[in-house]
Amino acid sequence: MLLGCQNIFYHYKFMTKDFLSLAQEKLKQQKEKIEKQLSEMSNRNRRNGSYSYEVKFPEYGRSDDENANEVADFVDSVSLSKNLENSLKEIESALGKINKGKYGLCESCGKKIEQKRLTILPTARYCLVCKKNKK
Ligand SMILES: [Zn+2]
Repeated sequence: MLLGCQNIFYHYKFMTKDFLSLAQEKLKQQKEKIEKQLSEMSNRNRRNGSYSYEVKFPEYGRSDDENANEVADFVDSVSLSKNLENSLKEIESALGKINKGKYGLCESCGKKIEQKRLTILPTARYCLVCKKNKK
């Protein structure tokens, strides 16, 4: 009997391998999409072992209108890229949890996150109860 392995895979009883690989696939696709979007709007820099994104400043022209649009679009892009970076971090942490066999467990109470919730939101870190309590 492989008793050690049973512990590691204990919580996967509620989560089939198919569900996990599907979640992993979904997360990878999201990751690629976001990375592509980020690379189109910003320059990726490697600093202290982690990546940071610097949004490119748009260049439309020299008139006041064009300059104003450049600034407005730049501000939009900066906030969008912050959102994308956050999503990317969540995706990477979810993928890391799959590798460690901890995917689908609430980070707050340690209980299983509802499978339905994970289907809709593969990066979910908390179960619904903890999510509600945090608000
Ligand atoms: Zn919880």
